[in-house]
Amino acid sequence: MISQASPLANYLSNRTALDEAIHRVLSAGRYILGEETAAFERQFADYIGVPYAVSVGNGTEALHLALRALGIGPGDEVITVSHTAVATVAAVEMSGATPVLVDIRPEFYTMDPALLERARSARTKAIVPVHLYGQSCDLEQITSFAKTHDLFVVEDCAQSHGALYREHRTGTWGHAAAFSFYPTKNLGALGDGGAITTRDPCLYEELRALRQYGWDDSRISQCPGWNSRLDELQAAVLRVKLVRLEENNERRIQIARTYDRLLSGVSELILPSLIPGTTHVYHQYVVRCADPLVRNRLMAHLSGRGIQTAVHYPVPVHLQPAYVHRFPGSQVLPVTEEVCAKILSLPLFPELTDEEIGRVATSVASFFGRRV
Ligand SMILES: *Cc1c(COP(=O)(O)O)cnc(C)c1O
Repeated sequence: MISQASPLANYLSNRTALDEAIHRVLSAGRYILGEETAAFERQFADYIGVPYAVSVGNGTEALHLALRALGIGPGDEVITVSHTAVATVAAVEMSGATPVLVDIRPEFYTMDPALLERARSARTKAIVPVHLYGQSCDLEQITSFAKTHDLFVVEDCAQSHGALYREHRTGTWGHAAAFSFYPTKNLGALGDGGAITTRDPCLYEELRALRQYGWDDSRISQCPGWNSRLDELQAAVLRVKLVRLEENNERRIQIARTYDRLLSGVSELILPSLIPGTTHVYHQYVVRCADPLVRNRLMAHLSGRGIQTAVHYPVPVHLQPAYVHRFPGSQVLPVTEEVCAKILSLPLFPELTDEEIGRVATSVASFFGRRV
């Protein structure tokens, strides 16, 4: 059986260091917001290339608190995409703002900057671009549109740890950026976790208060806050894993190049495309079939050969029961609605062996009556 993702394989490949880190925390006796969390925040900010990182409970909270810290709330509109994890849209609603969903570029699966102008209104306060599957959005166009119209940009980097746009990492371009450390992400904890990166010292202080009851340094609440903290155990785990993030991203890229090469003759499939000037870190390797029936049959064919695949994501957010009645009927997103029925995420995690990658590619090709 070849899994689509494997946090267990990642634990096993770092087992000694992770066990040691966990025991260090258990014995130190401080479990919330101690030295591990502070050290992780410094190291993560350094890695991304910003002065500040604030760790929080998960990626959804990272987005929610970033929006709140920017003063976004009821009556405001935030433009994002529907082709994303529900978490992106849920976080906008947690802030009290109204999500306005735009369509994607079919070749890259990310926000189409050409649609921002039509989505903008007098209430628009922010844009949340999602760097889906590990590839940066077209940040140049999005940030320049935001600048022209005085909007905030909060990047959703839950799938793009380490990805570059031009020479800077995702997470350095917006006013703030939200990361998730859900176990299967490129940088994954052994449980939930998240962080916000920013260059703005005021936003940094605001976020540190918001994540913990609005407390100041004397533990007095200066503003209403939440409880959203990364615990010491997860921070210690993430410090171990951060050291190997570059190496693991390199391996993901290498696996993607191998899939590209082995599947290049399967003309029935659309393989991932790169936005010029970006480094894709392949959180997912997503292929697209000509029609939904073929996609479903390919998925079953692979499953029958012990190969697990997944669809990210099968139902666009605006069509899910929780949202379908609340977004205006005019919100038709043709590209989003079309691609979600045709895409398939192949197995991809750093510990996949070359033999397994070959087996996946051979099985995909055999479905179309081809050989690799
Ligand atoms: C995983 C993910 C999130 C949410 O992160 P959690 O840590 O699960 O709350 C948000 N946006 C995207 C694009 C994600 O993939």
